[in-house]
Amino acid sequence: MSLLDELYRETLLHHYKHPHNFGELAGATVDAQGDNPSCGDQVRLMLRLEGDTIAQARFVGQGCAISTASASMMTDLLEGKTISQALRLAQQFKAMIVEGSSPSPELGELSVLAGVHQLPARVKCATLGWNALEEALG
Ligand code: ZN
Repeated sequence: MSLLDELYRETLLHHYKHPHNFGELAGATVDAQGDNPSCGDQVRLMLRLEGDTIAQARFVGQGCAISTASASMMTDLLEGKTISQALRLAQQFKAMIVEGSSPSPELGELSVLAGVHQLPARVKCATLGWNALEEALG
């Protein structure tokens, strides 16, 4: 395993074992659910909007390392973004995972998931939280 692969793996496992922004969000103005029955992943995404800005993002749920890490990194990235910025990030993330586009720098840490493109059975794990986001805001 290359050093880069190892760093990617560690980042993924960190977010899986210690998910950021995990828990119910009091005063959520957006509440969206995503299910991926093929893997057993469930994500409930909660956002608190102030105007058109995402002031807070939290999630709860259970799932595999990929779905949990993706939701953890997504909620990190969403705070402080406007709705249109958030939807743009969702498009960029899905282009990376579904189409295999090279990761946009705006995706930050989420680029560690780029390799999921090579694992078609896991694409739905990585995109679960993002699909919930798009359904809620789109
Ligand atoms: Zn999964």
